[in-house]
Amino acid sequence: MQTEPLREQLDTLLTEARKNEKKLLRFGQLEQRLMETRGLSQLVNIVLHDFPRDFELDEVRLWLLDESGEWARVLGDTHLPAFCEKGLVLAAHKSQLRGFYHPPLRPRLGIYQADFHGELFGSDRLASVALLPLVRQGNLMGGLHLASRDGNRFRATNGTYFLERLTAFLVMCLENSLYFDKLERFGLTDALTQVNNRRYFDARLKEAVSHAVRHKQPLAAMMFDLDHFKRINDRWGHPVGDMVLQQAAQVIQSVLRGSDSFARYGGEEFVALLPGADHEIASEIAHRILRAIGSHVFCENLDEPLSLTISIGVAGAAIEDDGSDETGIGRQLIHDADVALYHAKAQGRNCVVVQP
Ligand code: GH3
Ligand code: MG
Ligand code: MG
Repeated sequence: MQTEPLREQLDTLLTEARKNEKKLLRFGQLEQRLMETRGLSQLVNIVLHDFPRDFELDEVRLWLLDESGEWARVLGDTHLPAFCEKGLVLAAHKSQLRGFYHPPLRPRLGIYQADFHGELFGSDRLASVALLPLVRQGNLMGGLHLASRDGNRFRATNGTYFLERLTAFLVMCLENSLYFDKLERFGLTDALTQVNNRRYFDARLKEAVSHAVRHKQPLAAMMFDLDHFKRINDRWGHPVGDMVLQQAAQVIQSVLRGSDSFARYGGEEFVALLPGADHEIASEIAHRILRAIGSHVFCENLDEPLSLTISIGVAGAAIEDDGSDETGIGRQLIHDADVALYHAKAQGRNCVVVQP
């Protein structure tokens, strides 16, 4: 008499166990993928793009508290608009998330209510939601908000073990990615002028030559050296010299295009790479920079106007049809620009010399 209900019970338990095993496997795979990400944009992309697909969700929103603008800075202008369109929300203040989670900061699952949840999601054709706070050392750092059109998907009575484990993991990965990006940026930026450093430039040079060879496009380089810079330090002191370096970098960069690469090469020397420009176009731009530096008044609050000149060497890359030695092309390009700069100094400074 008892065997049938027992078997049914056993079957139910087995089905449940298999479901949980599958779930655990999927979570395990996801955690592995999250752990392997390098950088914040890759991580955010997994959350916004892969989560809805892998978990069959109708909406996924990732909220990050960004009171200091740090997340926005690290994500940068190139990724941010697309991410915001996909479901990333950078909240300027904690109060925007207050009241959505179970106190103190626990997940809240249940029926979607348009008047309560409307501001958290983009669609109102939703039936159930899981609102998961992202908590770092007891502080709210954002929220992962999942929604489904299936009213049974997230119920108030569901266990939250897997979801809490997922968010704890996500918090750890978000923190790691943030540090990874900051470190990366730190390693490629010149501390004084905040423009790219030589390490960045060397990496870009490789890519730019490769691109020029593949697309048979011209590529030009410029080397800059501030004239008699030592005199500025001697006359005004090192801090003023530092400020002049910062401002000179800004002036040069304001003439270049966004697609050009610009870096501090060392001391009072800078370098630029102009993809798509031959030596003639580059020469024209170099003359514009020469005039911009020459007419700029540096450190305006000094007793007398501080002006400066610059010497510029310009060279074009020798992109051949069989341009196979890309490293050689890059090295030669910078060498030619450097030789041109040497001639500019020899010719009396404050001029542009072009090495075709
Ligand atoms: P030239 O026209 O031949 O280039 O003369 P110059 O005085 O500019 O060149 P020189 O190589 O003799 O001197 C470069 C000076 O740049 C010396 C160095 O102290 C200064 N300098 C290099 N890096 C920095 C820096 O980060 N801050 C400041 N204030 N000065 C720097
Ligand atoms: Mg120098
Ligand atoms: Mg100099």
